[in-house]
Amino acid sequence: MASTVSSLLAEVPDLADHEARRLIQLATGLARSAMLGDPPVPEEAVVRFSELVSRRRRGEPLQYIEETVQFGPVELNIDRRALIPRPETERLWEISAALIDGLDAPSVVDLCTGSGNLALALKHRQPAAFVVGVDLSPHAIALAKENASALGLDVLFVHGDLFEALPADLCRKVDLIVSNPPYIASAEIADLPAEVRDYEPESALLAGPIGIEILARIAGGARAWLRPGGWVICEIGETQGEACLHLFRDFDPRIEKDLAGKPRFVIGRAPQLPNVH
Ligand code: GLN
Repeated sequence: MASTVSSLLAEVPDLADHEARRLIQLATGLARSAMLGDPPVPEEAVVRFSELVSRRRRGEPLQYIEETVQFGPVELNIDRRALIPRPETERLWEISAALIDGLDAPSVVDLCTGSGNLALALKHRQPAAFVVGVDLSPHAIALAKENASALGLDVLFVHGDLFEALPADLCRKVDLIVSNPPYIASAEIADLPAEVRDYEPESALLAGPIGIEILARIAGGARAWLRPGGWVICEIGETQGEACLHLFRDFDPRIEKDLAGKPRFVIGRAPQLPNVH
């Protein structure tokens, strides 16, 4: 008997219904609305579906299988070159966007940009902004550039180590530094879900023995790049709030929670006037 959408769904009771439907869509190219009519599925799409199901059953994240993810206002291409943008990082985008909303052509730096998600969503929100995204991984930078050109967004993506990669003329002119850096301690790798540990780039997750190493470097370098009154905002691990208040103590910092109520962001501001010694 020919397969239909409902017979394929019945074959994968172990998958969440919405995931199974997304894999059917990917295999068949059917629109969501067309699937409701339970149409027959051609044999080659059935074969494609079973390949996709095997990948999912092995633990590959759905977003890597679909090769796309929505982040705020932008749809990104995503693959194993970069971390899959998380819902909490969309909150980071919302807070960051609000900080620069009233500014005319702000300069924005996204450190550890990965797929370019924060940089691109901010540029989308504020087309007049000058946005630079930096990453230590040349593979992530290649993906971010592909995303920029697919979205038609003019963001400068540069490969390098945090601030070292920035154009020198941005010195003391940056309105916003935003970052979702690696913030997991090396020993915590064993505690990560297998989907994360086995598929996502370790260099996007692990910061070093303590976890706050990269955050410390951002706190240490930000002052030289921010204009007086410029903002710095980073995603942090839920147990790192106190440590980050200390790291960012020169920036009058505060901690914001994510939608699950966990401390997740440190937000600070460079003093309005340079210190007089
Ligand atoms: N929140 C991510 C995770 O737990 C980690 C992101 C990061 O290290 N920047 O998978």
